[in-house]
Amino acid sequence: MISVEAALEIILSEIKPLGMERVNILSTMGRVLGEDIVADTDNPPWDNSAMDGYAVRAVDTKDASKDQPVTLQIIEDLPAGYVAKKSVKRGQTIRIMTGAPMPKGADAVIMVEETERQEARGKRQEVKVFKEAKVGDNVRKAGEDFKKGDIVLRKGMTIRPAEIGMLAAVGKPNVYLYQRPRIAVLSTGDELIEIEETPMNGKIRNSNSYAIAAQIKACGATPIQLGIAGDTKKDLMEKLEFGLTADCVVSSGGVSVGDFDFVKDVLKQMGSDPRLGHAGTGMRFWKVAMKPGKPLAFGVIANKPAFGLPGNPISSMVAFEQFVRPAILKMMGKKDIFKRAFDALLTKPVKKKMGRIHFVRAVLEQKDGRFYATPLEGQGSGILSSMVKANCLIILSEDAKDVEKDSKVKVQPMDESLLYQDKPGY
Ligand code: AMP
Ligand code: MG
Repeated sequence: MISVEAALEIILSEIKPLGMERVNILSTMGRVLGEDIVADTDNPPWDNSAMDGYAVRAVDTKDASKDQPVTLQIIEDLPAGYVAKKSVKRGQTIRIMTGAPMPKGADAVIMVEETERQEARGKRQEVKVFKEAKVGDNVRKAGEDFKKGDIVLRKGMTIRPAEIGMLAAVGKPNVYLYQRPRIAVLSTGDELIEIEETPMNGKIRNSNSYAIAAQIKACGATPIQLGIAGDTKKDLMEKLEFGLTADCVVSSGGVSVGDFDFVKDVLKQMGSDPRLGHAGTGMRFWKVAMKPGKPLAFGVIANKPAFGLPGNPISSMVAFEQFVRPAILKMMGKKDIFKRAFDALLTKPVKKKMGRIHFVRAVLEQKDGRFYATPLEGQGSGILSSMVKANCLIILSEDAKDVEKDSKVKVQPMDESLLYQDKPGY
């Protein structure tokens, strides 16, 4: 049995980021940028107005006030998207809209709220200005966001809506991303039936394939369902071999010490199979000092990493989160691949023996600026219902014993559910 840290180190030593592919920006969300992005222009490309108002020469508005307004002659109306034909000379102004380029001669904009347009006198248009402008008032400078040649996004960044906006702003409809990993999912066990069927005669529904596929999707990778393998070496090998067209294989079940637990043997055998080019190490380890999830096997067959997750639904999900998730994120080119852990106070004691890390399903809540973690009833590795209630896992280290109420513990958030609640959070 090896520690969680040692297991992670072995796994990650076998994982390399995948290659690149060119992707339309609308399909880049959540994925990892494979190139530095350089701005092809200044942004904004020219000085422009930050307000609807009047473009002026600041000197012309000196000492203007509500009681002693300055009157300027309006020589042009300038909407956004057009360039002024005239330039602003002494005593003149151009009516300007937000985003329109600053006219020549003008060095400030007075907000429309600080002005009053006068009745037209013949062809002459005038405006009263009630406020003195300083040079640069309400003007957005060319390049104040970024300049031509700036690296605005870096290789390895995860794409969010802001990054997509930036790609659009620098005129990049297509970009290089790390490929999306394709992860083959295999469930094993003679007892498994399809989820459309009703359990009878010792059979149970194959829930793992679906939970694991969802975990793969949540990482941003693509699951490939290999279905169910019966508990024979032959069936396991055939199905696993089919999975080797993917970037990685994840199986569940058949990895314990039962008479029909053949995944370990199959990993060993396939790792040195001449038909698969001997390209693999076979099994690298089996059994990790954790609860749930102890019977976990990892190996490399035909150059592809292969995870043999335990069969119990919670064991497979927890082991996935600790080991498969970082591996997938590394394949995707991500830099930060480990889940953050937060400090919280235990609201109930937890029983524990030394020797294994425990991952305890719990509910995390914030009260008066502090986080509290409440362990859930039903910690058995087959109890899916407590996994449904949980929003986090409490992590109790290998050398910890019984943990008292009010102790400070590490808590790993499970997913986005912690970001949402039934009312606004402010
Ligand atoms: P195993 O490791 O194969 O002995 O499986 C451990 C437990 O997990 C057994 O009770 C299995 O029935 C159950 N199990 C294995 N695979 C699945 C699956 N795909 N879906 C639901 N339960 C499973
Ligand atoms: Mg089994």
